[in-house]
Amino acid sequence: MRTGVKTIVWFNEVTKKDIPLVGGKGANLGEMTNAGIPVPPGFIVTADAYYQFLKEAGLTGKIRHLLAPLDTNDSKQLQDISAKVKDLIVKAKMPPDLAEEIRKHYVKMGKGLVAVRSSATAEDLPDASFAGQQATFLNVDGEKEVVIAVQKCWASLFEARAIFYRVENKFEHFKVGIAVPVQRMVQSETSGVMFTIDPTTSDASKIIIEAVLGLGEMIVSGDVTPDHYVVDKKSLKITHKEVKKQEWQLVKNKAGENVKVNLTKKEQAKQKITDDDILFIAKIGKRLEKHYAHPQDVEWAKEDNSIFIVQTRPVTTVGKMAAAVIKHEIKETPILVGSSASPGIASGPVKLVAHPSQIDKVLKGDILVAEMTTPDFVPAMKRAVAIVTDRGGRTAHAAIVSRELGIPCVVGTEKAMSTLKDGQVITVDGSGGKVYDGKIEFTVEKKVQRTKKLVTKTKLLVNLAQPELVERIAALDVDGIGLLRAEFMAAQIGEHPSYMLSQKRGKEYIDKLAEGLTTFAKAFYPRQVVYRTNDFKTNEYRTLKGGEKYESLEENPMLGYRGASRYITDIETFKLELEAIKKVRKKYDNLWVMIPFVRTVSELAKTIEIMKAEGLKRSPKFKIWMMAEVPSNVILLEKFLALGIDGVSIGSNDLTQLTLGVDRDNEKLAALFDERDEAVMLSLEKIVRGCAKAGVTCSICGQAPSVYPELTKKLVEWGITSVSVSPDMIDQTREIIANVEARLKK
Ligand code: PEP
Ligand code: MG
Repeated sequence: MRTGVKTIVWFNEVTKKDIPLVGGKGANLGEMTNAGIPVPPGFIVTADAYYQFLKEAGLTGKIRHLLAPLDTNDSKQLQDISAKVKDLIVKAKMPPDLAEEIRKHYVKMGKGLVAVRSSATAEDLPDASFAGQQATFLNVDGEKEVVIAVQKCWASLFEARAIFYRVENKFEHFKVGIAVPVQRMVQSETSGVMFTIDPTTSDASKIIIEAVLGLGEMIVSGDVTPDHYVVDKKSLKITHKEVKKQEWQLVKNKAGENVKVNLTKKEQAKQKITDDDILFIAKIGKRLEKHYAHPQDVEWAKEDNSIFIVQTRPVTTVGKMAAAVIKHEIKETPILVGSSASPGIASGPVKLVAHPSQIDKVLKGDILVAEMTTPDFVPAMKRAVAIVTDRGGRTAHAAIVSRELGIPCVVGTEKAMSTLKDGQVITVDGSGGKVYDGKIEFTVEKKVQRTKKLVTKTKLLVNLAQPELVERIAALDVDGIGLLRAEFMAAQIGEHPSYMLSQKRGKEYIDKLAEGLTTFAKAFYPRQVVYRTNDFKTNEYRTLKGGEKYESLEENPMLGYRGASRYITDIETFKLELEAIKKVRKKYDNLWVMIPFVRTVSELAKTIEIMKAEGLKRSPKFKIWMMAEVPSNVILLEKFLALGIDGVSIGSNDLTQLTLGVDRDNEKLAALFDERDEAVMLSLEKIVRGCAKAGVTCSICGQAPSVYPELTKKLVEWGITSVSVSPDMIDQTREIIANVEARLKK
């Protein structure tokens, strides 16, 4: 090593004081190792090494030169420059003594499979993870390969997203450095998770541990139900044990691929780890929680009788979302039963809201009870800890919004309004679709949320509509927005667009809508944001100011004046939306458009024509998608595609409703509304395969993959190019996609 420059350090040589040298991730590994936590061993190639490399390879000037003409508003140019810089870094020669040091350390730590990760550093930034890019290479094997992976991590500091972020936030490119931890990958014989606090009830007296045989991925994908153990934190006694039958396990084969292996009858029945192991892990959990002064969400693995801590992070910073993915069991008798619309569980006092004018009644921590919700209810929904409705199914407004907000919701109980009393304390079990009197104790059976970064070919998108959530969701591992619903922004504007137009206030509408759209496009830039033009139904539009004049009372609004039909009969109102889109795209050209509820081929043709006349024409930078949600779209798919569109996104909510003839909002028919019905599944398959054949992208943005994760597997097998899910399903869906892709590759 050169004097004065520390290019490589072992984990035990660093502490949190060394963040400028090894980044947050590196310092954390040092802290844990020094605190006696059994983390898999490894070393860190420091930020100094990165700077030395830049200097000796003479790259700084060249990179500056490439970056000089950069205009971050030009996403094509940004991508080009990013590719050039990365190429430059990957192809440059690493200083030979540094490469030699890396190889030596790798040999000394015992060789074998390692994980090579990025840990960004910045002088005046406590957490530089956003200023850099977090590339990770798993299962890296061999001296040469490790050196290459380190260089690739360095290059990832110049991913388009990272460059964009630094420019937007005025960080000097060369003040953000990067360290690269190289860590041995544990060959898990048994693996699992631990929460040092009960993640559903926030009961801090409990430690929850789950275990499976083999690799831990299946806990996340939900393919295998793990053993579930509860330990009392104070006495360190096991208070509850559920041993689950496991029929197969996932193991790594010699080629480093994950393969399924069946278990024998005897193996299937046994407790996954011994009581001693459970207590050993729990003790580490206590120490981690004390060390970080915060409850931890931990991943552990067992290899050759040793237990390792693979990952630890504070329990859910993603708001209430963790609760949204927890399944549990309650033994009491429910007072109301409906459909499970959004998972999770919560208790609180009831607030009956008979009309949107009463939404102010709902305070933070209350449970909102209504006949049904509409966009006017949203401000109250945001304050509520849970929602219960009389009417509606799993794809009703209440369900979609609560999924997005990450709060439990039960819809279609039929008599919540007439049986519950204002102020009555109830417990809402969103997963089970049940409501209980009083505050109920419940047990956690399973937790599935993970935030491990995985790279998949199939894009993972998110359904989003609330501008307030955008920053939080954009920070997650998603490739863009697959469905940006217009209805919520329109509701926020509060006045009917045609009414505003009649008052010569069209520009005001355009500006307000453009402002809303910018929030999303900016936060996700340069990731794609697919804006779905307005698909308000008459009953929803009528409640907007001035709406009564323009929206007639319809018996069947689901089959009424909605979707593309509006655009071609009321071009002037549609133009307001198009103007807003154009305005936003001047700065953020990652904003695309998706046309909903297209009944006929000619409707789509006319809509495209209108857009074109307004200057919104398809181009490599502007994609137009069509939703496939009317059975005619499935039957005549090829004809729709022949008109020339870039992609299709399946609206499984409407498609299921129309294929099965089941009103999606009718609680009496809720049991019949099932996307897994053979007729619907055949339609999904036809669309996905048809798009692949025609060479257009295919996505799905209905609730189906968020409600039935197993559908994601099928869709990926058929060749879907992206899947868009509710925010609480992001991690789980990414894992499922990664697993299916790995299987298909084989
Ligand atoms: C759908 O129909 O699946 C869809 C995504 O649109 P919405 O739920 O808004 O009708
Ligand atoms: Mg729809």
